[in-house]
Amino acid sequence: MMTVDFGWPFRLFLLPSAIIFSAVLCAHSLYKNRYVDLWQPNSVSLIGWNATVDVHMKRRDTQRLHAALKQERIKYSVFISNLQQEIEKQTRLRSSRKRRSESQYDYEIYHSLEEIQRWMFEMNTTHSDLLNMFSIGKSYEGRPLYVLQLGKRSRAQKKAVWIDCGVHAREWIGPAFCQWFVKEALNLYRYDTAMRRLLNQLNFYIMPVFNVDGYHFSWTTDRFWRKTRSKNGKFHCRGVDANRNWKVKWCEEGASSHPCDDTYCGPNPKSEPEVRAVVKFLRKHKKRVKAYISVHAYAQMLLYPYSYKYAAIPNFNCVESAAHNAVKALYSAYGVKYRYGPASTTLYVSSGSSIDWAYRNGIPYAFAFELRDTGYFGFLLPETLINPTCNETMRAVKAIALGLLKKCHTDTDAFPYI
Ligand SMILES: [Zn+2]
Repeated sequence: MMTVDFGWPFRLFLLPSAIIFSAVLCAHSLYKNRYVDLWQPNSVSLIGWNATVDVHMKRRDTQRLHAALKQERIKYSVFISNLQQEIEKQTRLRSSRKRRSESQYDYEIYHSLEEIQRWMFEMNTTHSDLLNMFSIGKSYEGRPLYVLQLGKRSRAQKKAVWIDCGVHAREWIGPAFCQWFVKEALNLYRYDTAMRRLLNQLNFYIMPVFNVDGYHFSWTTDRFWRKTRSKNGKFHCRGVDANRNWKVKWCEEGASSHPCDDTYCGPNPKSEPEVRAVVKFLRKHKKRVKAYISVHAYAQMLLYPYSYKYAAIPNFNCVESAAHNAVKALYSAYGVKYRYGPASTTLYVSSGSSIDWAYRNGIPYAFAFELRDTGYFGFLLPETLINPTCNETMRAVKAIALGLLKKCHTDTDAFPYI
């Protein structure tokens, strides 16, 4: 782990009062001058009235921030006072974590890309009756893009569910969930009738790390890296937001055309090889894939289309009730509350997102999870919370998948429509 001069994540409370305008300007100028790394929201254009903003900044800039905040009378709290220490907690002892057999694989720690890939190979060998691993393409830096097919082999055409994790590199709980899902599904298959039904009747396509280059970079160089690692012509900034790069209202509201921004849409739609590979796979299997699920963090939300506009989708009732059941199932584990609804109204408007693309391309249930927490640890969700977070999310995903086995009556004539 390269050590960077990490400072403190702050939460700013921008108050609705006479000072709000200068407070918003202040937040904008801090960002423009690159003093801060925005955690939530992920674009400065989304900072507005009565907003709370999570930021992380270098220690050497904190004096300047204190002064600016005091002058503008902006309320703030420090959530993590020693970020470097928190990062090291999650990456330490890497060298002593030698290769272990699958039965000893620790699902309650974060794993590097190499460890996750070794785990995939091992699972593929030891569970060949229910698992099949394959690659759908190569990343910008040439890494294979592995997917696990999970389900009982069958000659009949089975409905399928796509789940991807790790689209945004710094959201480490995502890949941890994808691994957890595979492990739990295989365990439960033996004695849980619901899981047995799911794996008998459905195929799951699970991509534990979508943005492999970015994820690797978040382990080796910058823990808070979000984008891919592609080069952008003459600009020194690298990477594209892999959730703004899909060909649906590409690079309109809620995406940036500047290569240095965290929500950069890319030079063209599908410019990223990772996005292209998933598009190609989903297109090929579009008749069977009934649900698309993308796992992100953090906000504690379950989102569905549209992302790019404020309007209800044609099969709103079916999707809304699936989301309701999922959130209820999640809550039943530990009482953790999730908000749910269309991404545009529940989180913010964004264009070129994968859920809008999946929906437009005929996948009737498209969801994005924003897992724990709501900003206390943010991207540094402690390893002790991997177990409860994955457990409750497992219930939600199971509820969505079980719903696919039932009929939901909707205005199908209008679908797909965007
Ligand atoms: Zn994300």
